[in-house]
Amino acid sequence: MTKHVYTFGAGKAEGKADMKNLLGGKGANLAEMNLIGVPVPAGFTITTDVCTAYNKLGKDAVIDMLKAEVEKAIADTEVAMNAKFGSKGEAFPLMLSVRSGARVSMPGMMNTVLNLGMNDDAVKILAEKSGNEQFAYDSYRRFIQMYGDVVMGVEAEEGEHDPFEEVLDRVKDEKGYKTDAEIPAEDYKVIVEEFKAIVKEKAGIEFPTNPWDQLWGAVCAVFDSWNTPRAILYRQKEQIPEEWGTAVNVQAMVYGNMGDTSGTGVCFSRDAATGENLFNGEYLINAQGEDVVAGVRTPQEITLIGSRRWAERNGTSEEKRKATFPSLEEAMPEVYAQLNDIQQKLENHYKDMQDMEFTIQDGKLWMLQTRNGKRTGAAMVKMAVDMLEEGMIDEKTALLRQEPNKLDELLHPVFDKEAIANATVLSKGLPASPGAATGMCAFSAKRAEELAAEGKKVILVRRETSPEDLAGMYAAEGILTERGGMTSHAAVVARGMGKCCVSSAAGITVTMTSMKIGNKEYKEGDFISLNGSTGEVYDGEVATITPSLDGDFGKVMQWAENNTRMYVRTNADSPADAEIAREFGAKGIGLCRTEHMFFEGDRIWKMREMILAENVEGRKAALAKLLPIQREDFYGILKAMDGFGVTIRLLDPPLHEFTPNDLESQKEMAEKLGVPVEVVKEKVESLHEFNPMLGHRGCRLGNTYPEITEMQARAIIEAACDLKKEGFDPKPEIMVPLIGTVKELKLQEEIIRSVAKEVMTEKGVEVDYMLGTMIEIPRAALTANEVAEVAEFFSFGTNDLTQMTFGYSRDDAAKFLPVYLEKGILKQDPFEALDQTGVGQLVEIAAERGRSVRSNLKLGICGEHGGEPSSVEFCHRAGLDYVSCSPFRVPIARVAAAQANLK
Ligand code: PEP
Ligand code: MG
Repeated sequence: MTKHVYTFGAGKAEGKADMKNLLGGKGANLAEMNLIGVPVPAGFTITTDVCTAYNKLGKDAVIDMLKAEVEKAIADTEVAMNAKFGSKGEAFPLMLSVRSGARVSMPGMMNTVLNLGMNDDAVKILAEKSGNEQFAYDSYRRFIQMYGDVVMGVEAEEGEHDPFEEVLDRVKDEKGYKTDAEIPAEDYKVIVEEFKAIVKEKAGIEFPTNPWDQLWGAVCAVFDSWNTPRAILYRQKEQIPEEWGTAVNVQAMVYGNMGDTSGTGVCFSRDAATGENLFNGEYLINAQGEDVVAGVRTPQEITLIGSRRWAERNGTSEEKRKATFPSLEEAMPEVYAQLNDIQQKLENHYKDMQDMEFTIQDGKLWMLQTRNGKRTGAAMVKMAVDMLEEGMIDEKTALLRQEPNKLDELLHPVFDKEAIANATVLSKGLPASPGAATGMCAFSAKRAEELAAEGKKVILVRRETSPEDLAGMYAAEGILTERGGMTSHAAVVARGMGKCCVSSAAGITVTMTSMKIGNKEYKEGDFISLNGSTGEVYDGEVATITPSLDGDFGKVMQWAENNTRMYVRTNADSPADAEIAREFGAKGIGLCRTEHMFFEGDRIWKMREMILAENVEGRKAALAKLLPIQREDFYGILKAMDGFGVTIRLLDPPLHEFTPNDLESQKEMAEKLGVPVEVVKEKVESLHEFNPMLGHRGCRLGNTYPEITEMQARAIIEAACDLKKEGFDPKPEIMVPLIGTVKELKLQEEIIRSVAKEVMTEKGVEVDYMLGTMIEIPRAALTANEVAEVAEFFSFGTNDLTQMTFGYSRDDAAKFLPVYLEKGILKQDPFEALDQTGVGQLVEIAAERGRSVRSNLKLGICGEHGGEPSSVEFCHRAGLDYVSCSPFRVPIARVAAAQANLK
């Protein structure tokens, strides 16, 4: 019989750390912590397989399937905790927390229910046994509130406040209590009844009093939360497969809200924002875990050093800090010492930075969770470098721990020093997630998304963020919140995204439509800037610059260099881009799109002159004017990449891309080129195509207008000869685009080779050059053995290859791809991540057939996929020599290539 439930508690566990697939990350680690002697409240994990079954079979069948195992597990938990579920007075009542836990953590995305088991009997016993009536009734109202929301669907209607919070606010107002903690038991008793009435009114049924009914309701609600829109969006963005499902962790409650000897907190074994090797975190006295996560109360620092830094940032005096915001180290030194030992033990055990949750119940410390902590790109790099130097991990582990895409954050702008010196600081908050961001204020996630869709740079400004704001956070450049701590939702999620975030900004008041700082009001569209590394908020737009790339970043690049087989080139059309990419470690250019060179300055006019020419002579005359310009371009680019291969592609796009569509511009063109406007109009009309992507482009241009190929080949070889004479080592690789048959390539080859020969004779110098083709039409891939008879290299143009294999126009796919992704027809946008099962086969076939006739055939990829980590891994497996990508993705591709080699 399949086992669905795994128990843990009192130093024993049925699961362990490497069972994450079955038990989820949280469940596996709860088991492991028990096994290594860390104090963890007893409980059990229902496996992720059950989630899958739940989605297929539904609630009743799954409850039937689980019933016996869960009853047995509850009995074990009762023994371990010396408490009784559904107690009628004979023992301490066992209250439960029910939490989700997928294979990888999805913070805040799924549901949790705490204080389960509570009812009119249990609350009395809890009050009696704990000697704290206020705590017992507070727990009861929390339970109704959370269960009412999560399981019974009682929530604020649009534009209204949360109905439960409204009651709390009213009572506090009426009686003059400042915080929830000041509300006495007598009032909580009344509140509990009001809460029950709210549930009855909104959900239409009585609040369930039977603990077993409560338990099954909560377990099913956790499974249901796997499919909430925010969980689905998060999975899409983070590429978490839908079929993984979530586990459910049912665990004995321990209470951080039993009074002033209790508390709860979140801590990290190193700094998740900077990577500094410093234990840090936040806690709240007399609170439950959700209070820290929700970011409603401002939590205190755990360590003394953290507390002092915090005070310094806030301008709080040492006296005030000690009296009002003492660290846990000062407030509860013994508990702190134990926590400090445990965090070290856990980091050493997992050999990675741990993100931990704990609760102190009446002076006793319990660990509720540990996981490898999410971190910024900068922290990811620093921690790996430090841990390698500390001897905790080896180079291979350090390298495999890099999430290639996160390196992007390190390559991104920081504020320009001069600009920032002149900027006005509006406020200072917590440096929740580093980086610099500038943009216009948007006060709702929806507006942030809309403005970003219009191409605007947006800062999402919120009182606090909730998981519903996720889409807006993705769309924004940065996030600013009025409330919350370093471990609030906004901070944790922003760090995971590598997005700049400042939280708990001093002196700002945020509404749904504006933000007030002092007497200044900011409305939607007004610009502000954020420094997520210092917590500063600035007025207006502040200029940014690219950061430096030595130090720890350089070390990571060196590990990549030490461990890679494939090398990385760049797609660049200018010497400046080539230089940046070379600094990032690019070894050559995989694609120089020559057409991009025709748009600069007044070059476009010479190109248009060529297009308007009525015969070969006219075209040749116009091309003769383009020749020196092209030669100069190629000279610059070959020089910037001296010693490395530079793949230069002959003209590719359909000619209509160079002519104007609107009448005004057509008139301008006619005037400039001295022809009647009708001539221009006629030409534009004649260039019109129904499917330009499948039309008169690529080598079809070179084969119908051989003079274009002649000019470009001449410009390339002339530039190379000139460089050679000057003592450089140019390595041009001339590439023919969009061939489908070998004959198309053959005819172009004849032109190129004859021009090259002619130029070298003229210049009296020999240069080595290669001649190859793009593989971007399925027929070329399938007949690669014929093509390789002529081509010395293949470069996979996977943009076109994807377009033509799927039959999706690159220009029109955006109309239906979002729906396809939403419906799960496609798992990923195939223009972003290479479709390995379909398009990938063509790459493999072409590589194999090509090399069967030319064993030293050089293979590379230059489509957008060349900088996407999963596609890079595929290219490694397919035996490609290099991948080529845009300059800023070069470091990402280098790490991905080395990782592919190590896996
Ligand atoms: C490709 O098709 O993958 C490619 C690199 O060429 P382009 O994007 O210029 O069509
Ligand atoms: Mg192409």
